[in-house]
Amino acid sequence: MIKDKVVIITGASSGIGEASAKLLANKGAKVVLGARREQQLTQLVDEIQKAGGQAVYQVMDVVNPSDNAQIVKLAKETFGRVDVIFLNAGIMPTSPLSALKTDEWHQTVDINIKGVLNGIAAVLPTFISQKSGHAIATSSVAGLKAYPGGAIYGGTKWFVRDFMEVLRMESAQEGTNIRTATIYPAAINTELLNRISDRNAAEAMTKLYERYGISPDRVANVVAFAIDQPEDTNVNEFTIGPTTQP
Ligand code: NDP
Repeated sequence: MIKDKVVIITGASSGIGEASAKLLANKGAKVVLGARREQQLTQLVDEIQKAGGQAVYQVMDVVNPSDNAQIVKLAKETFGRVDVIFLNAGIMPTSPLSALKTDEWHQTVDINIKGVLNGIAAVLPTFISQKSGHAIATSSVAGLKAYPGGAIYGGTKWFVRDFMEVLRMESAQEGTNIRTATIYPAAINTELLNRISDRNAAEAMTKLYERYGISPDRVANVVAFAIDQPEDTNVNEFTIGPTTQP
């Protein structure tokens, strides 16, 4: 059941995170929203509250462990517990390796990998002491299949896949009652392409998304589906994309 669950969402200021925040709040979840852009978060919280939902936000950089600890604290102080963390913040500055955009390589690893590690490190003690919790992460179809330009981005998303599967296995082994779900979206129309600095990669991606991209609401439906299952049921993985995208 989604109603009354306390759900932390990272990367909530746009795209998949924003769509998930709206849908889950609409279904009665208490959402705790994190990202770096405060204006977008304020507007989103306002919109959810006006629609009768419950939401708070915290400006956070997932790269910073203390920001992750802070959003878990905010959730517990405001709503008393944490039922779900949706580790969704991410960037996709694709480029060929030969372009040597090494600053972007490191930034992608920091946000897409360390952001997930920091989120889990911050929430795991709470999940263990509650004897329940649900960690959901946004990987990507790029974490399932390699493609030129996606060495770093795809690599970070492969990491998310492996990490979440081990979390699931260890939680089952240790009897901590923690559920996990990893989502692999294909082309979803969000702000993700805005940060591609390589001109050729940006053009190719824009063409692909213009042709195939679907609404982030579709991914939010999957997040809601995973949360809505009975506590004894784990939706391990979910691949989702446009019907028309090969
Ligand atoms: P958006 O760019 O719309 O959303 C990305 C979100 O991540 C924003 O809210 C952004 O907020 C946040 N974010 C980025 N860096 C940080 C950071 N350091 N700390 C905190 N928040 C951060 O794109 P999407 O909604 O598409 O992306 C969400 C996830 O989905 C990503 O992990 C992405 O890799 C994944 N994905 C997306 C696909 C697509 O086609 N759109 C396909 C496959 C996977 P802010 O800038 O305010 O911090």
